[in-house]
Amino acid sequence: MANPCIICVAITGSLPTKDNNPAVPISIAEQVESTHQAYEAGATIVHAHVRDDQGRPTSDPERFARLMEGVRRHCPGMIVQLSTGGRSGAGQARGGMIPLRPDMCSLSVGSNNFPTRVYENPPDLVDWLAAEMRTHGVKPEIEAFDLSHILKAREMWDRGQIAARPYVQFVMGVKNAMPADRDVFDYYIHTVRRLFGADVPWCAAGIGPNQIVLNEWCVAAGGHARTGMEDNVRLDRERLAPSNAALVQRVVDLCDRYQRPVADWRTARAILGLPLPDAA
Ligand SMILES: [Zn+2]
Repeated sequence: MANPCIICVAITGSLPTKDNNPAVPISIAEQVESTHQAYEAGATIVHAHVRDDQGRPTSDPERFARLMEGVRRHCPGMIVQLSTGGRSGAGQARGGMIPLRPDMCSLSVGSNNFPTRVYENPPDLVDWLAAEMRTHGVKPEIEAFDLSHILKAREMWDRGQIAARPYVQFVMGVKNAMPADRDVFDYYIHTVRRLFGADVPWCAAGIGPNQIVLNEWCVAAGGHARTGMEDNVRLDRERLAPSNAALVQRVVDLCDRYQRPVADWRTARAILGLPLPDAA
């Protein structure tokens, strides 16, 4: 049976710079253009961070609002997912964009190490971000950097902190966090199915050269895939990625190889339980 694959493009992130790859979109105009190219290539979710005028990460809701408006104008139906990740701000500033009511926001539910620091997600902040998302009708994507984060999502669902069945993303290959380990990946899938039902949608992201590895594991195993320059700026050791769209195209090619249709935005919204946009 056909199982369409949702492709998420993480266009910018908090870390990559033009020095790493000149194609990393930094300004809002560049981000909208890059998202549009990725959308044309087959991406139906855009995961976005914003930067300030110096290119530094920020959680400024006004910038998120401009980005969301541009994406909605140029990419009809695309699912907008804004980051509440900890590199872009501190404390409740991380959730200042939730009242903009994007389709989704990322939600980290526990702490772990990052390459050079601790990624802090204290329980009271996690609870507050989840409550804001519930209040504003924003679907969370649970960022699972560790097995315990998947079980935490189940606990939050049981307590009514997450409105619908959680959509979990496994993040693998962050230095000092969970490596891209195939046995763990399989156990993650086993765990989300055990906790949330055999048919629950799930996805995964791999960092750096792990991106294409995780893309293939996801497509082959029936999950959904994340790509984009937030996680990886290269096609391979020798070549920089020319665009986010080129990274999306690699996932489209994998879908062809594994005979999975690429989900269009209507299908992606149905799979994730998201309403159609007002204009549709
Ligand atoms: Zn992110």
